[in-house]
Amino acid sequence: MDPRTAPPRSTTNGDATDVFAEIDRVFALQHEYQPFIRRTTAPERVRKLQRLRAKLLERRQDLRDALHADFRKPPTEVDLTELMPVLLEIKHASKHLADWMQPKKVSTPVTLFGTSSEIRYEPKGVGLIISPWNYPINLTLGPLVGAIAAGCSAILKPSEHTPHATRLMKELLGELFDEREVAVFEGEVDVAQHLLDKPFHHIYFTGSPEVGKIVMRAAAEHLASVTLELGGKSPTIVDETADIDDAARKITYGKFANKGQTCIAPDYVYVHERVHDAFVEALQDNIHDFYGPDAEARASSKDYARIIHEKHHRRLEALYAEALEQGARSPVGQTQRSAPRFIDPTVLTDVPAEARIMQEEIFGPLLPVLPYQSLDDALDAINAKPRPLALYIFSEDEATIERVLNHTTAGGTSVNDTLLHYMHPELPFGGVNTSGIGKGYGYYGFLAFSNERPVLRQKLKRSPFQQFYPPYTKVTQKLVNLLVRYF
Ligand code: NAD
Repeated sequence: MDPRTAPPRSTTNGDATDVFAEIDRVFALQHEYQPFIRRTTAPERVRKLQRLRAKLLERRQDLRDALHADFRKPPTEVDLTELMPVLLEIKHASKHLADWMQPKKVSTPVTLFGTSSEIRYEPKGVGLIISPWNYPINLTLGPLVGAIAAGCSAILKPSEHTPHATRLMKELLGELFDEREVAVFEGEVDVAQHLLDKPFHHIYFTGSPEVGKIVMRAAAEHLASVTLELGGKSPTIVDETADIDDAARKITYGKFANKGQTCIAPDYVYVHERVHDAFVEALQDNIHDFYGPDAEARASSKDYARIIHEKHHRRLEALYAEALEQGARSPVGQTQRSAPRFIDPTVLTDVPAEARIMQEEIFGPLLPVLPYQSLDDALDAINAKPRPLALYIFSEDEATIERVLNHTTAGGTSVNDTLLHYMHPELPFGGVNTSGIGKGYGYYGFLAFSNERPVLRQKLKRSPFQQFYPPYTKVTQKLVNLLVRYF
């Protein structure tokens, strides 16, 4: 049966076909298992992570094959953007987990003389991880590393649009983990919604802002905590001092890798008008270098993925056609279909601000390039849109870089590069408001699945704080006045 049309199936052991009943059963099992999994030590959790690492390396070719079958993702991109980030997460967590789990002592204020305090990191409990199709392995297993490190169990619901990758994850995680710890459920929206009805302790969702709102509403029913890794339009600024060839090369990579279907891909570029034409030309040169000199060569390039599905393809074609109708030009790229689910790497100029392509997240290989005269105008236009997941600055001028940083807000920024802030294991990753709530990856992924529990120990029977107990005499008030002045 074509996996794209196959009905949702449970990934757990046994012959059960009723996926909802299976979800209920596994959810109950994971709950019952909490007293055991929460007591696991750092070495035990690291062993689980290392087993996951070994399994991923053992099945490396299968990962490549699955993602090729799903959307012709080039094998090198699978290694670089699916496998490597998860291996890096595992390496980083394995190295630091014992430290992260250590209770952190904090100092004692004068009012609490006689006490000592610390922050303990306890697992939140049962986690739900819902992930998108664009980096299915990375965005499912990356959060799972955080859950395992924190000592949580987790139910995973990867995207229905990458059936091969989802099935492979189900298979290899099934070989590694008891379903009381980790279970994968395939399925579409109905499966996600059934999962969202359950009182999970934490929900880690990666996907679109629209579905993020649905997830947050469902989480509110149970007051589950959430990490929402969402999307949006990530702007790029190229000023007149930037190294144009270098900027164009890095933007070409950041935009067209994974065929533009990257949450932190540059969505559109504001370029200083003096360097606009040179920049567009440099984009063209780099597109030719990366993917081939003409549309035919690029359509058969093994290094250029495909659009995930027909509906998304039609949406991109419509964005492009509407922009042209409204006066945009397309000096680089051709969008007539020369291969299934193929869109040429395309640059658009003269794009009107009101065009739909400048209103919604593009999430495909179409790059509007807009000239600016005054940086303030570009910043105003950027700030008029919802807060982006990423913002990129290309400039050799430190004052301009600082100005952009100080006058904008974004989930994350790379200066003079694209995408790379995501790959740094010490940096938190996430959005801000519309582009996301909460941060993940590395230590922040561990924190997302941990309850930071403050513990204060009183060492004195008659502590000084009892001076402030009722009845409130004049002496009590004087002491309070002293403290108010002191603070
Ligand atoms: P999506 O929101 O459509 O789907 C994500 C997941 O949610 C899938 O597993 C899907 O089955 C499930 N889902 C869909 N509709 C649902 C509903 N009504 N109720 C419950 N669950 C539902 O996103 P997508 O199309 O898979 O991915 C593209 C989006 O994800 C883009 O907006 C992109 O920017 C964003 N994204 C963000 C990050 C990040 O790290 N911030 C990473 C990748 C993608």
